[in-house]
Amino acid sequence: MEQKIPYKIYLSEDEIPTAWYNLRADMKQKPAPLLNPATLKPLTADELSAVFCRELVEQELDENTKFIAIPEEIRNFYKMYRPSPVVRAYCLEKALGTPAEIYYKFEGNNTSGSHKLNSAIAQAYYAKKQGLKGVTTETGAGQWGTALSMACAYFGLDCKVYMVKCSYEQKPFRREVMRTYGASITPSPSNTTEIGRKILEEFPGTTGSLGCAISEAVEVATHSEGYRYVLGSVLNQVLLHQSVIGLEAKAALDKYGVKPDIIIGCAGGGSNLGGLIAPFMGEKLRGENDYRIIAVEPASCPSFTRGKYAYDFCDTGKICPLAKMYTLGSGFIPSASHAGGLRFHGMTSTLSELYHQGMMEAVAVEQTSVFEAATQFARVEGILPAPESSHAIRVAIDEALKCKQTGEKKKILFGLTGTGYFDLVAYEKFNNGEMGDYIPTDEDIQKGWASMPKVDL
Ligand SMILES: *Cc1c(COP(=O)(O)O)cnc(C)c1O
Repeated sequence: MEQKIPYKIYLSEDEIPTAWYNLRADMKQKPAPLLNPATLKPLTADELSAVFCRELVEQELDENTKFIAIPEEIRNFYKMYRPSPVVRAYCLEKALGTPAEIYYKFEGNNTSGSHKLNSAIAQAYYAKKQGLKGVTTETGAGQWGTALSMACAYFGLDCKVYMVKCSYEQKPFRREVMRTYGASITPSPSNTTEIGRKILEEFPGTTGSLGCAISEAVEVATHSEGYRYVLGSVLNQVLLHQSVIGLEAKAALDKYGVKPDIIIGCAGGGSNLGGLIAPFMGEKLRGENDYRIIAVEPASCPSFTRGKYAYDFCDTGKICPLAKMYTLGSGFIPSASHAGGLRFHGMTSTLSELYHQGMMEAVAVEQTSVFEAATQFARVEGILPAPESSHAIRVAIDEALKCKQTGEKKKILFGLTGTGYFDLVAYEKFNNGEMGDYIPTDEDIQKGWASMPKVDL
């Protein structure tokens, strides 16, 4: 007899994964290595250790170990807010009148409001273990900074956050959450760093960018004794930590014999999507199962759908390693869309390589249609979604509506990465009918590419 699938599929605490899954181990063609921007040679562990914590460097460079044990301290922290539920979106299915089954993995059930805490706690743990005093980072929309300040508070580490100036001014509440957890927040660009002063001189009145805040945070980490830099997306280590999302999702669905046909996630730097799809993509790479995997990005920052697959800088100051990825160029300044977490010019090298191999698809969606989907979802499913997450909702709804036309009973799984309580200015704009869609012209994108390294790699 077929089991009735509950609204929420919960795992027990004991079912929180005991190891992260390293998707790269199952890739025959590995993602391209990070390069030293000065020598153009692959970065060594020693070089990376000047910027990042030692064990995180090992994880970054490890492309062969399939499972990496999750230390007990991290698992204990995970127990405060994990396992996160897989929800069967019965109400949304009914509202759409679709024969499709829609499931979502909800990562917004913690104070930081997003999946970023899964990696923040891991990175803080390794920094503590190394005996460091603290870490530095940047934050755009504020989700990563919030997650990291929670993680640092837990392990008693100092946390210095460089927050893109326009967010610092527009999102005072995020800032206060971070300060409550003990972090110090500096609006970027600032005059506290050499690169910040240079950018301010060149562009007085600039409201900053993620790439610029990264440069400042790296500079401070490398110039302060006992500090290292941490990053909330893009890196292999972050995808590794986020595999906890996919492992839990798969375990939950397996309990009811549900095999998703389509897996959808929003893609900024690629960490939540990389984590959600990890065990499924592993099966696909090993030829055991097939899944359609779709990355959703904003039409205003279309790294996959309109980017180039090439080595590029990760930051505006050009001090970070070069990464091979789908990129719009580090000089590409995306328009002020409300999905701050999706405004990175590049994409993690693992997903870039998989996309290049044709193992996954990508679509770009416009902001107003994303908020239409967000509103529709909120009204029937109850959760107020983050604008970033709503990109995945948009495409999940679109796929479910296609099933309505064809009568196919496809099973759709998407990642609901976070809640939108700090994004109410965006919702206000949408509700007032004042939200625009910004799509870069080919010329804008050409300009971004002009900032890429001039070498052929
Ligand atoms: C940061 C963020 C994203 C995008 O980052 P990825 O690394 O691509 O996952 C998506 N959703 C939310 C809620 C975020 O905070």
